[in-house]
Amino acid sequence: MSLPDVIIVGGGVMGCSIALRLRQAGLNVTVLERSIPGAEASSAAAGILGPQMEADGPGPFLELCLRSRALYGALATELRELTGVDIAYLPSGVLKAAFTDAEVHHLDATAAWQKALGLRAELLDGKQARELEPKLSPEALAAVHFPDDHQVDNRLLVRALSMAAARVGATFRSGYVRSVVEEHGRTVGVDLDGDLLSAGAVVVAAGSWSGLVHGTTLDPRVVRPARGQMLELQTRLPLTSHILTSEKGYLVPRTDGRLIAGSTMEFAGFDKQVTAEGLSRILAMALELCPALGQAPVSEMWAGFRPYTEDRLPILGPGPLSGLFLATGHFRNGILLAPITAKLMTQCLLGERPTVDLTHFRYDRFSARPPA
Ligand SMILES: Cc1cc2nc3c(=O)[nH]c(=O)nc-3n(C[C@H](O)[C@H](O)[C@H](O)COP(=O)(O)OP(=O)(O)OC[C@H]3O[C@@H](n4cnc5c(N)ncnc54)[C@H](O)[C@@H]3O)c2cc1C
Repeated sequence: MSLPDVIIVGGGVMGCSIALRLRQAGLNVTVLERSIPGAEASSAAAGILGPQMEADGPGPFLELCLRSRALYGALATELRELTGVDIAYLPSGVLKAAFTDAEVHHLDATAAWQKALGLRAELLDGKQARELEPKLSPEALAAVHFPDDHQVDNRLLVRALSMAAARVGATFRSGYVRSVVEEHGRTVGVDLDGDLLSAGAVVVAAGSWSGLVHGTTLDPRVVRPARGQMLELQTRLPLTSHILTSEKGYLVPRTDGRLIAGSTMEFAGFDKQVTAEGLSRILAMALELCPALGQAPVSEMWAGFRPYTEDRLPILGPGPLSGLFLATGHFRNGILLAPITAKLMTQCLLGERPTVDLTHFRYDRFSARPPA
């Protein structure tokens, strides 16, 4: 087997997307995954592609998210052609509901600043919102409609990405990467289960575990796990066509009648338990948004770890050592951000100037003020 040009640590949505693009650019790529591709956050997610519903305000992060959203339609087509897998990219649109006057005020302001940026965002009163989505709670006072926020089935997405990367020639190997190996300040490979695997460059895309890969010189606390609990309900026909959301959580209707409800945000280390309190909060949110869900059977529950950084922004681009690259810390938006991340990381590894300014996403922005 020829030596890889690039080793990618982690086979989540980031590792697989980057592998696909690097291989298509002609590089010899090996993905190292200790479990199976997509085993962690990338399968635990809800699959919302929601830059607008998530945004706190304008800025580089919203720009990054919007650029990635714009790549999804073409990615879905490409993955279907390469693998036959339909990732269920659905132009659902999002309705973000308000139940108090303060929330209405906040949504009004959100719609206003987004419209000023040229984005589509319409504040509807309760009656108008229920005309669009009849099963929305009668208690909802208003809602903002974001017609351009969409969804994918993230489990199908990671499966398709890993298949596509393998199909174009990326190698996937099982194993635990103990450390990045460096000689004279240059990355020369990784320690894979005690053996040196050499490569010209290493990309750490290990999600919430990225800080725990030794040898990167990164502070292990820079990326931390933020647990999110989720549950799946079954409805015979989809009860809603839009993603419904409020300040407390979201409901994501799949076309086959499954409905994903989430989520919690907890700092509980790497404890992946689903708790009574977590589930009760999610169910209360679900029934507040859509009381008609009361009799829906609960078919699955799980938890996963969002890769959290102190400023909630990802870490993208070259790392502290020559030949080391980082693609991690995507927190709540890693499914959304996978296509743009893969594109930018490929540009970095090819030595090209990235088409997005990565200054805000540099690894060393934390150096002056380490997280508590
Ligand atoms: C409950 C929940 C809901 C979410 N909902 C959404 C959503 O709706 N939309 C959205 O855009 N994002 C969402 N996210 C966020 C998104 O899931 C993550 O940002 C994204 O999946 C991160 O991808 P990743 O590849 O970096 O990490 P992961 O998917 O966690 O993959 C990292 C991989 O690295 C492997 N690994 C780690 N250490 C090593 C090692 N030393 N050696 C070998 N392999 C290693 C792991 O086994 C794992 O497979 C959600 C996340 C959660 C938890």
